[in-house]
Parts: sequence; structure tokens; C-alpha cells
Amino acid sequence: MMDASHAAERPLRVVVSGGSIAGLGTGLALHRAGIDVHVFEQDGGAMRSAGAGLVVQPELAALFRPADGATLPTTRCRGRQTLGFDGEFGPLQRMPQQFTSWTAVHATLLQIFPGERYHRGATVERFTRNEHALQVDIGGVGAVTADLLVAADGAQSPLRRTLLPEVQPHYAGYVAWRGTVPERDMPQDILDAFDDVFTFADARSGGHALAYFIPGENLETAPGARQMNWVWYVDANAAARDDLLVTRDGVQRRASLRRGMARQSVVANLKARAVAELHPMFARLIAQTAEPFLQTIVDFAAPRTVFGRTVLVGDAAFIVRPHTAGGAAKAARDAQLLAEALRAPRSEIDRSLDRFQREQLHYGQSLLAYGVQLGRRWARLGPD
Ligand SMILES: Cc1cc2nc3c(=O)[nH]c(=O)nc-3n(C[C@H](O)[C@H](O)[C@H](O)COP(=O)(O)OP(=O)(O)OC[C@H]3O[C@@H](n4cnc5c(N)ncnc54)[C@H](O)[C@@H]3O)c2cc1C
Repeated sequence: MMDASHAAERPLRVVVSGGSIAGLGTGLALHRAGIDVHVFEQDGGAMRSAGAGLVVQPELAALFRPADGATLPTTRCRGRQTLGFDGEFGPLQRMPQQFTSWTAVHATLLQIFPGERYHRGATVERFTRNEHALQVDIGGVGAVTADLLVAADGAQSPLRRTLLPEVQPHYAGYVAWRGTVPERDMPQDILDAFDDVFTFADARSGGHALAYFIPGENLETAPGARQMNWVWYVDANAAARDDLLVTRDGVQRRASLRRGMARQSVVANLKARAVAELHPMFARLIAQTAEPFLQTIVDFAAPRTVFGRTVLVGDAAFIVRPHTAGGAAKAARDAQLLAEALRAPRSEIDRSLDRFQREQLHYGQSLLAYGVQLGRRWARLGPD
């Protein structure tokens, strides 16, 4: 290990736990700032997402630069429409928007971030701190010395649970069913109803659904090769949620079901309920979906995000409701803010991280509150 005087001359060494959007985004922003950063992702495979969609926000777009030689695949729409449950089509409201998918963001970040700094099948297990540095134990890699450890390990963040064992995500009282349908499989009349618009649909018993086109399975953006992405927010008390989360193999999941996990009877119920509750075009879109998947809606705010030389970013720090369309953008914003904070001279880093924390907490708390408000106003869901 290097001594303190030596340490002042070399770039800061940063270990990032988690290689999804927050982890890769942080890796990229820090690498651009000249920091010696390595990202460790526990998943050893290709991390194929369920392919679900994201609204492109400016903070997310700002991660990608023309000079990188890789462009984020996106789809577009010219405006919004609302479908009523009795079959009416609301007027088109002009509001151009861009969309992408988790898969597209992840794949594009991987193209830009140096491959030798991204380690798959590498689980961050624990860390210890001595006077000069952190030692991070990484399964599949060994012990790594770092000046800073970034927890970008998601909503269930193992690192956060060791740092803040007493705070837990709070279930908001409803779930999001999601699905995708390849454009080539959509009948022409459904395609016509959803093309070029961001569609919202009110459900008869409360709640709402939305749909928009995202890049295709191989990230194609041309019409004909895209996928239609939909989300339907549905009330579920804790017992109903737990029942939904039992997989077709009988396993009780805690927070989500990936594609192919939902029981056939549950999927059949969902499709029947869509016919009773949603505009017929939306119900047909859901009926066309081979394997809907599910995400429970939770709220979480970390009371602090900087613990000496360990920092929480992305969903490890704040989990906001998907109505904000802000989770990936928040992760990108954390990445940029942290890179700026770490540009400070070594003697100023503690103060700089303190400013980073204040700004991150302020933004996260406002986005969280906005999501709760949108949940009440738009989705009319959840007990709170
Ligand atoms: C495979 C996948 C697909 C997703 N698809 C979508 C989507 O389609 N639409 C959407 O809105 N959001 C999706 N999300 C969630 C979305 O990425 C987040 O809500 C948001 O972008 C912030 O991400 P995050 O990086 O903070 O957390 P996450 O995306 O949850 O990533 C956390 C990462 O940390 C890794 N990790 C956890 N513990 C360890 C450890 N001990 N050591 C090393 N690595 C660890 C996990 O494997 C995971 O890759 C997806 C997440 C994943 C992991």
C-alpha cells in the first residue's frame, strides 16, 4: 500500500459496487475526470433486462457525448393522448418526447466505458478502513485497495444495509405490471392507436396505464422493428402483493417478478381485468403480451449518503416512484455530481463530499415527494 505523501500524487482509486446504470454511469463520469475507477458487477452473465422502457431525461442524455463514438438508441413521439375506459380517445396534446430502454442504456454505457475497468461476476462482499485507505473484499477478484467505495448496488443495496441497517424501503400499496410486445406482432389497428404518441389510459377502478415505443430487442429504432412498452399500476395490499410475487415454481419473491416468472393463473387474471378496466385497445395490447413482469412500488430515502469514504448513489440512495420517470436520470445526476466533487484537491475531499451529500439529499427528497404526489394524482393509488 502507498503512504500518504505518495497518495497525494496519484489519481484517486475508486471501487464501484454494481454495474447497472448508476454504477456504469459513475464509472464513466469518474474515468472522464481522470480518476482510477473500477466497476464490479456481481452478475457474471450478459445482464439482459426484461427490456422495459425509460423516458430519456436531460441528465441521462448528458452521460453520452458525440466524441464517444456511440449513440444511445432512442425512439420518439410527437405528443400525449389519454384513453378512457369507456373506449374514448382524448385529444392529442403536443409534447415531443424521447424513449429508450434499460438494455439500450446499459449496452451503450458498456461500449463507452473501458472494458478492462468493468469486472463481471465480481461481488463486493465487505470493506475495512485503515488510516490511509479502504480494503474492499471482492468475491471472484480478491482484496482491492481503494480511496473511495461507491455503493451503486441498487434498491436492495447490501452495502447500504450494513451502513444503515435500521432504514428500509416502504411499500407504497400498489404494483406496476409491465410488458413489451414486438412491433411486428402488433395488429395494424393497435399500431395505429399507439404510434407516435405517449399513451395514458385511466383504469375503471382507479390506477392508470401508459405505453410508448422503445428500441427493439436488438436495439433497432426503425419503425417495424421496435417494441411497444406498457406499464399498468394496480392496487395490491400486502397480502395480495405477496401472492402475486409467488413464482410459477412456487418461490416467494420479495420485490419483483422477471419475465417468465408470473404464474399462468395470475397472468390470465391480469388480462381479464384489463378487458374489464381499460380502453379496449389497451386491453388488447396487454392480451398480446407473452410474459408480463412485475415491480412492487416502494419509497426509500437514505438519511445520509456519505459515510467517510463510502458513498451511496442511484437506487441505493433513493428509490423514487416510476411516475417521475426519474430513476435512471437521478443515477446519471449522482454520477456527474460525484465526479465534480472528486475533482477537489485531496485535502478538500471531505468538505467536497459533504456538499455532494447535501445536494444529493435535497434532490432525492424532492423527487421522492414529487413521485408520491404523482402517485396520488395520476394513479390514485396507495394508502398514503
Ligand atoms: C438487469 C436490470 C434491468 C433493469 N431494467 C429496468 C428497466 O427496464 N426499466 C427501468 O425503469 N429500470 C430498470 N432497472 C432498474 C434501473 O436500472 C434503476 O431503477 C435505476 O436506473 C438506478 O439503477 P441502479 O444502478 O442504482 O440500481 P440497479 O439497476 O438495481 O443496479 C444495481 C446493480 O448492483 C449489482 N449488485 C448488487 N449487489 C452487488 C454486490 N454486492 N457486488 C456487485 N454488484 C452488486 C446488481 O447486480 C445490479 O446490477 C433494471 C435494473 C437491472 C439490474
